Amino acid sequence: MTNDFTVGLVCTKENCEGGPNTPAQYFGGDENRCSDCYWDELEIEVVTPPMEVAHLEIKPSTYILQSVWKDEEKEVFYIHRQEEEPNDTDKVFKYKGKTYLYKIAKITSKESAMKAIHSWWRGCISLNDLNKKEKGRYEYI
Ligand SMILES: [Zn+2]
Repeated sequence: MTNDFTVGLVCTKENCEGGPNTPAQYFGGDENRCSDCYWDELEIEVVTPPMEVAHLEIKPSTYILQSVWKDEEKEVFYIHRQEEEPNDTDKVFKYKGKTYLYKIAKITSKESAMKAIHSWWRGCISLNDLNKKEKGRYEYI
């Protein structure tokens, strides 16, 4: 009898885009999922910044808006932010080749969540303007 402890669990989703041997990262007994399949099955929306701001030096972030039902009736929204260089201590997950910082905000309506994302983009655009005008004055830009 062989010892198969070294064999990792694989994603059991039919037609997993990663292929038949994609390592599973979320375990549910018979229903193991790789990261992409797991997130695909949740109610999520990837919110990317408009093309008009893609050229900016300080890039506006992409977010994932996740709809979560509490007690079957109360919907809340988690916001996850794409992160280029997360810290080791950050709680992150992968989705379609990108890394996201898990749950940077929890907001009670979709409208408010979108308002928050838009305000962060506006903040980023302002930071770029400030960066042009006052280069070197602020250490973080
Ligand atoms: Zn998969």
